[in-house]
Amino acid sequence: MGEGQHKRQNRDQSAAEFEAVVDAAVDGIIVIDSQGLIEVFNRGAEQIFGYTSAEVYGRNVSMLMPPHDSDRHDGYIRNYLDGKQPRIIGIGREVRGLRKNGETFPMDLSVGDASRLGDQRFVGLVRDISERRLTELALADSELRHRTLFNRAPLGIFTADLAGRFLTANDVLAALLGFEEVDWVTRHNCQSLTAPDSRMLQHNAFQSLIESDGNASTNQRLNWLKHDGETIVVDLHLTLVKQDQHDAFFIGHVTDRTSEIRAAVTLQRAQQKLAQSGRVATLGEMASAIAHEINQPLTAISTYAQACQRLLSGNAPDSDTLRDALDAVYRESMRASEVVRRIRGFVRDRESTRFREDINAIIRDSVELAAFEATQSQVEIELELAGSLPQVTVDRVQIQQVCLNLIRNAIDALLLSPASERGILIISGTTANGVEISVADNGSGVDEKHRGTLFEPFLTTKDDGMGLGLSLSQSIVVSHGGTLTYAPRDSGGSIFTFELPAGQAADV
Ligand code: ADP
Repeated sequence: MGEGQHKRQNRDQSAAEFEAVVDAAVDGIIVIDSQGLIEVFNRGAEQIFGYTSAEVYGRNVSMLMPPHDSDRHDGYIRNYLDGKQPRIIGIGREVRGLRKNGETFPMDLSVGDASRLGDQRFVGLVRDISERRLTELALADSELRHRTLFNRAPLGIFTADLAGRFLTANDVLAALLGFEEVDWVTRHNCQSLTAPDSRMLQHNAFQSLIESDGNASTNQRLNWLKHDGETIVVDLHLTLVKQDQHDAFFIGHVTDRTSEIRAAVTLQRAQQKLAQSGRVATLGEMASAIAHEINQPLTAISTYAQACQRLLSGNAPDSDTLRDALDAVYRESMRASEVVRRIRGFVRDRESTRFREDINAIIRDSVELAAFEATQSQVEIELELAGSLPQVTVDRVQIQQVCLNLIRNAIDALLLSPASERGILIISGTTANGVEISVADNGSGVDEKHRGTLFEPFLTTKDDGMGLGLSLSQSIVVSHGGTLTYAPRDSGGSIFTFELPAGQAADV
């Protein structure tokens, strides 16, 4: 074999190997000469563009570009060859390609200068990214749908890190907290938007989830603070999502319950007022019925007594007539005592609801019932409850009513004070006979001219007052054998104190 033939054989073999390698590549590989004419078009390129290599050899590569780009392509090559700034050679970029069937598609193209071997040549690597683009579009679409779902949900939604800092929040949560922009929410953490009286509860909810195995939830009713300081009541459903040891976050769903609760409180107050006035009406009716029933025998008794006096002041009193009159007095007095017996029976039936109770527990329940109104009015209620108090035998609901009346009056009296100074202090302690509870406020105090008649029904200084709270409270306490008194506080404000005997209910 001559040397020339050997070389040619070698060249043919390496060309075949080169072709095999180029064809094996997944990407399209296109080699062009300095005129832009196609010299190599591998199988990958055939698949991408839909042409066979025979169809493209020797043709200008601009046939693989949409018209706008193909017009400029020759200019790009010239510029590069003239040593000017390359637009694409040596760089990679996303461009559009044109398939044989006329369809254009996005592709990643990187072009290298392959002129090492003398003739000017460029090699282009082409990757069809239309699938990837479709996936990206689908992702963007799904992201948009999720975002819409997130923002249009009828409740506030947030995510927060383990320290409680908001990471994301939806529009509803921003609106609920009185922020115009979601970004303003995410500059806060959950605790700073929580009312002081709910912070402990909320902190515990976060902590207990962190200490759990993960993916657990809790529900809490909490007082949150709006941006302007107004309190709102929310139900917070908190879930901890733990992806792994280092990636955990909270998801919160927040429902605003404020207007619902406000309506319920208004209704409750209205119902209580109705119940109170209903009770007074019943008492009033009962009083006039009692007066009527007792009045008849009393009138009869006095009539017969006068008759007896007249008989006795005569010369010869007729003993039979006298006996008849005295019999009548006796009969009528028995009738009167029967009325009294019936009243006592009625009162005794009411006593059946009295049990031995822990007065501190009653106070705590009452404070809880008043908590919403207190928070709404920015009033702090402080408790100083003595330990180991003797039990009292009381009607729990009635004594709760007394506490609630005193707390509500105190809240009302504080409304004119600056918010930072609104405080109620409830103290319980023992006395010689039993227990003593005082409700002190630093509010407006009671005007001197009202002090004497404070406990009389219908005394009120409020536009919407009925003036029944204190008189009813007093009659409840007195019926339990206790006392209810008022004293002005040295520092301004009022102290209402009631005492209840320990042990058995007082005899009525
Ligand atoms: P109402 O609250 O409907 O007015 P109450 O019998 O409970 O009826 O109270 C009667 C009045 O006593 C009130 O209108 C108010 O003037 C006065 N009062 C009661 N509690 C307080 C208090 N803590 N501080 C100042 N005034 C009070």
